[in-house]
Amino acid sequence: MIRRSFFGYLAAKLPYETVQGGLPDPVDTGLPGEVTLQIQVGADQKSLVDKKKTILKKGVEVQRGALYGLFDEEKKDLTVPVSGTVTSAETRTGNYGRHFALINIATSEEGEASPVFAEALDQDPKGEASLTCLSHLPGCPPFTRLADEGIHTVILSAMEKDLFTNVNQYALQARKADFKRGADFIKELAPKARVVLVLPRYLEAEAGDTGCETVGVKNLYPNGNPALLAARLSGTPIEAGKTLEESGFLLFSAESVAAAGKALRTRSIPQEKLVSLTLKDKQTKLVNARIGTPIARIFEAVGETLVKRDHLIVGGPLTGMSVYTPEFPVDPDTDAILCYGPDNMPRLTDTYCINCGKCVRVCPANIPVNLLIRMLENGLYEEAVEKYDLDACVECGLCSFICVAKMPLFQQIMLARHTLAESKKSAETGGSND
Ligand code: SF4
Ligand code: SF4
Repeated sequence: MIRRSFFGYLAAKLPYETVQGGLPDPVDTGLPGEVTLQIQVGADQKSLVDKKKTILKKGVEVQRGALYGLFDEEKKDLTVPVSGTVTSAETRTGNYGRHFALINIATSEEGEASPVFAEALDQDPKGEASLTCLSHLPGCPPFTRLADEGIHTVILSAMEKDLFTNVNQYALQARKADFKRGADFIKELAPKARVVLVLPRYLEAEAGDTGCETVGVKNLYPNGNPALLAARLSGTPIEAGKTLEESGFLLFSAESVAAAGKALRTRSIPQEKLVSLTLKDKQTKLVNARIGTPIARIFEAVGETLVKRDHLIVGGPLTGMSVYTPEFPVDPDTDAILCYGPDNMPRLTDTYCINCGKCVRVCPANIPVNLLIRMLENGLYEEAVEKYDLDACVECGLCSFICVAKMPLFQQIMLARHTLAESKKSAETGGSND
């Protein structure tokens, strides 16, 4: 094991998007005729969906903002962003072999939202029912984890997850009163934790009236990476192989904090997600889209028509993933969607490493990526953990971005981590998730 410090790596100096010189006016993409909910499921659950054994199945009426269980009435694990009728429940297998249930819903008139959140607030604003509703907000904030033993720091982040998006910087500036309300509520829920607003330095003046302790950082990628933020605040790196939560940190995006403030003010759960779009001519647009809206409709709302060979990336240029259909929906954590025309696709190959060392110098976790990749290419995943710090990776994607041979390093790393996590789960459950 190598286990080196995060600090001292060659900074990549990739500037994030900013929101300066006037706030953009997000384009409202409207109420779509159909939405799709994507829920990650295990292999055993996939077969239940295929056998039509979900609670949300064809013909079931749903109400906006109500909570549902996918397989169990009692275990409410999803909320629906529109009122309407389920038209189908199907599955798809995504990147790294992950399975998803897709619940398609034909939208009816907007109508009344479910009273479930208002009732939960009346009962106990800090109770389990309220916090469960809030955990389904755009940005998927971890409200239900705030009371966990061992949580010592809550990071409210106005930094972005990737390049080509500015949703959190926008939310902090344009939704300031709701952000403050949401932040105050988080402080009440975690009275013993340190609650820190981390933001790009140019926004420090905006932070004064939020009442939060603030830490300004350079607006350069990957400074907004959750593991690097935690390391910055605590002065020590997150232990390799541990999650943020296992290390005592929780992270709320600024957009999700503002959404919580709005939910408390309006007594209903907002169902719109801010998304930064990059169009084929490289222009960027900020949109406000109903969760579950197909990508094609969102681009249509800003005047961009998608054609067959367009390349769509959800998430951002460094950590995003290609999607195979313009019907792919906006998820609660989709911050950016990029569209490259057929002639303008980023090149990714599987040619050989020339040992230039650039990936090693740029890696914020100081991983010897050039050696690690040789293990991964040969499927030696355990050895990659033991000898080359696979589990210290903070999933920033810089190695792939900088690789002169354009090797899919990040994708190989993610595949290896997913495979190891699945094997571990399988071993713990005696193989029942196979
Ligand atoms: S994605 Fe690549 S550059 Fe980023 S931490 Fe992991 S190995 Fe290092
Ligand atoms: S950047 Fe690419 S080519 Fe250079 S050492 Fe790393 S993997 Fe090899």
